[in-house]
Amino acid sequence: MATNVHGPSVAIIGGGIAGLVCAARLGQLGITATTVFDTGRHAPGGRCSTRTVDVGGKTFLFDHSAQYFTVSDNRFAKIVSFLHAKGAVKVWNGPIGVLKGGRFVKNANLQAFVGTGGMKSVPECLATLSRVQRPAWVGNVVWEPMAKKWKVDKYGYFDYLVIAHNGKCADRLMGSAGAPKIHELLRVRFTPKLIQKVQQMQLCSLWVLLVVFPASLKLPFEGAFVEDSDVTWVANNTAKLGQRATGDNSECWTIFSSRQFGAAHKVPQENIPPGKAEEVTKRLLAAFAKSAGLDSRALPSPTYNKVQLWGAAVPLNVLDGADCVFQASQNVGICGDWLVSPCIEGAAVSGLALAESIHRHVNGERRDTGLGCTFKPVHGPPIGSFPTNSKLVFNPGGKTG
Ligand SMILES: Cc1cc2nc3c(=O)[nH]c(=O)nc-3n(C[C@H](O)[C@H](O)[C@H](O)COP(=O)(O)OP(=O)(O)OC[C@H]3O[C@@H](n4cnc5c(N)ncnc54)[C@H](O)[C@@H]3O)c2cc1C
Repeated sequence: MATNVHGPSVAIIGGGIAGLVCAARLGQLGITATTVFDTGRHAPGGRCSTRTVDVGGKTFLFDHSAQYFTVSDNRFAKIVSFLHAKGAVKVWNGPIGVLKGGRFVKNANLQAFVGTGGMKSVPECLATLSRVQRPAWVGNVVWEPMAKKWKVDKYGYFDYLVIAHNGKCADRLMGSAGAPKIHELLRVRFTPKLIQKVQQMQLCSLWVLLVVFPASLKLPFEGAFVEDSDVTWVANNTAKLGQRATGDNSECWTIFSSRQFGAAHKVPQENIPPGKAEEVTKRLLAAFAKSAGLDSRALPSPTYNKVQLWGAAVPLNVLDGADCVFQASQNVGICGDWLVSPCIEGAAVSGLALAESIHRHVNGERRDTGLGCTFKPVHGPPIGSFPTNSKLVFNPGGKTG
């Protein structure tokens, strides 16, 4: 937490990786009067979070959104060095690869990082570097042209506004804020498959199943992308996070649906009908068993299961030509994964870029960034979310490059 407050005030709406990195970098640049507003009830982090569940007196950690991250950008490598020095991240050494027709093929080119206490350790560590107000949902923001300030809901006036979230929420928030060029970029469409000719942010929805089995499944992998299935990713949280207690053989798994499955079974994410939850659970368990080459009737009966729908899960396109958006005449910017690459690294790079744009503006530069940019498709694995190869291998405690 910043103690000495300097420079203009900045309101950052969204305490995911992008917003937290933006705040931390502003602090490094001497702009310390920042407040990050985030809806998180238990923690900040947005789509980089961990659920804690108690089952029969035992505690299980589930990474229910981001599973791991890779490092391919030197700027991000510095952040990862910091997180590593603070003990917040570690390398995931377990076998990770691809499942096809029940066969597992290891990806030897992947250097995957995870949070030491689940992925939530990453935002928790970043949040120590700035002031985070939560749970706080910002319902309206308005640009006051005479005062040249942003009125942020009931939280008062700020010199700068940062929109560090996307989806329906950001679209609505900026719809009546008095910054139409910024709102134009935040308009969103939900689709399982990119519509090339539509120049608008496009997001897909995914179901996630969290399940505890009373006995180990004895599978030869800890994380696997799945091809040709309703399931696209499966991960053993017990092994990944080193959660196995002596004498306890249970295992907790995270299972992701495909985008097509997400669209076909879409319901209001805050109010999932029990019948739909049951149906999705059954289908994803069956697809998981098949993909792993297991007889679904032989799967041990789960001692816990819960489904969650990520309505605005992952972007299918990203902005072409800018890592962030900044409008100099109205002191307002946007950062987030959908501006760079739909992953933790992309969100962090975008947050860094926006902090630097604001810093230059504070020092007199009057240049817009990213306004009027078009969108380009994201190329990647079927889940369309995160990279499966690290181009730049990060060597904790050593040199990067
Ligand atoms: C299921 C799933 C799996 C993924 N797996 C991986 C992976 O393995 N590896 C990887 O690198 N990436 C993965 N990703 C992508 C990664 O999680 C995201 O790219 C990254 O976390 C996005 O960060 P962000 O800061 O841009 O946005 P977000 O994390 O979405 O943060 C936005 C924050 O703003 C808050 N907010 C929204 N509206 C308001 C408001 N009005 N007021 C206050 N707060 C508000 C939200 O609650 C949220 O906390 C995955 C994503 C999903 C959904």
